[in-house]
Amino acid sequence: MSKALTILGSTGTIGDSTLKVLSLHPDKFSLFALTAYSNCEKMFQQCVVWEPEYAVMVEEKAADALERKVKKAGLKVQVIWGLAGLEYVASHPNTDYVMAGIVGAAGLLPNLAAAQAGKRVMLANKESLVMSGQLFMNAVEENGAQLLPIDSEHNAIFQCLPSIKKKGEGSTTKGVKKIILTASGGPFREKTLKQLERVTPNEACAHPNWVMGQKISVDSASMMNKGLEVIEACWLFNVKCSDVQVVIHPESIIHSMVEYADGSIISQMGNPDMRTPIAYSLLWPERGESGVGSLDLFSVKQLNFEEPDLLRFPCLKLAQDAIRTGGTAPAVLNAANEVAVAAFLNAQIKFTDIPHIVESALSSHSVKEADTIDLILSVDQETRQEVGSKIKTI
Ligand code: NDP
Ligand code: MG
Repeated sequence: MSKALTILGSTGTIGDSTLKVLSLHPDKFSLFALTAYSNCEKMFQQCVVWEPEYAVMVEEKAADALERKVKKAGLKVQVIWGLAGLEYVASHPNTDYVMAGIVGAAGLLPNLAAAQAGKRVMLANKESLVMSGQLFMNAVEENGAQLLPIDSEHNAIFQCLPSIKKKGEGSTTKGVKKIILTASGGPFREKTLKQLERVTPNEACAHPNWVMGQKISVDSASMMNKGLEVIEACWLFNVKCSDVQVVIHPESIIHSMVEYADGSIISQMGNPDMRTPIAYSLLWPERGESGVGSLDLFSVKQLNFEEPDLLRFPCLKLAQDAIRTGGTAPAVLNAANEVAVAAFLNAQIKFTDIPHIVESALSSHSVKEADTIDLILSVDQETRQEVGSKIKTI
């Protein structure tokens, strides 16, 4: 039977890739809702092609503009706006699957609404899990939701874990010794600390292997992305930080690996293209076309592996420390990083200021139990204000 899909963040790069995969499977999926922040023009184009039941714009003005265009074009799309609109479509009884493709903390409430409504949640938005790991996993468990990772590394790990489908579950960590999380090392893998002080936002966004939104591109350049992914892996696969080893693999061909107690290491490989994990999660437990071509092993020739350098890329260590500390520390790490990355993209701070800002936010925060979403959201807001004021003095 055809499944109805909501794409949160449809105008982003994850949204684009999801729509490309959907177009290969018109008999299997229908589009229930698309959402964006303010990109009215792109949303209108998506409405023309896909005619979903709902289009949500977070900004009211963008929603008004979209509504006028949609009416003029005679489309049967209902336009709604605001955060409430995101939560409405993410939890609506007429949607089966939700692609969580919003960037940053803004994804938390709609993703949680989808989990609470028992949907298949395809999680690209790692920030929501970093902020509220335990509460998010509880919501998935208690409401019978399915949480499938879209992040290429976590999708790879999910594929490499032993399957126990007869019990209706996706995977288990029985017999697993450790998780090996691969990282490309980003565009600055070979730069010295001195050179890192002078890198520009454009250079940071020019990832060697992946085309991604600006925020995750800067995170990849600073290796905060890998830090957030360590935290994401701990929650998704119920493992400790010490069980997750980060390995630099510049070719981005092995998307991650699982080492077993018997010495076997199982990896998932393929061309670096998000359509593979997206197709996997949409079609799971089956497999089908993603539009991604075969990996040409003869042109790849060799695969390399290096240890991460925590002196040049301290964000990775800050994230590892934050998950070891637990409680509200990962939410502080995430909020401080989001504000610092936005300031770097705005040319207000240097690239090398990012870890200092995150470290100082973490050291001035007194960690609490992250036991309610309200507390997590208030810690997120407080951290943003403090970091914002600090940046003004730099
Ligand atoms: P983009 O910046 O390309 O897209 C972000 C999307 O979120 C856009 O649709 C944007 O709308 C919307 N959005 C932005 N701010 C808000 C907000 N405050 N409230 C609601 N919606 C908002 O990001 P990506 O697609 O690259 O990344 C999305 C998520 O997926 C991130 O969490 C990232 O870490 C994760 N991810 C991405 C990968 C990739 O290859 N791109 C790989 C693995 C994970 P608008 O266009 O109107 O601004
Ligand atoms: Mg990733």
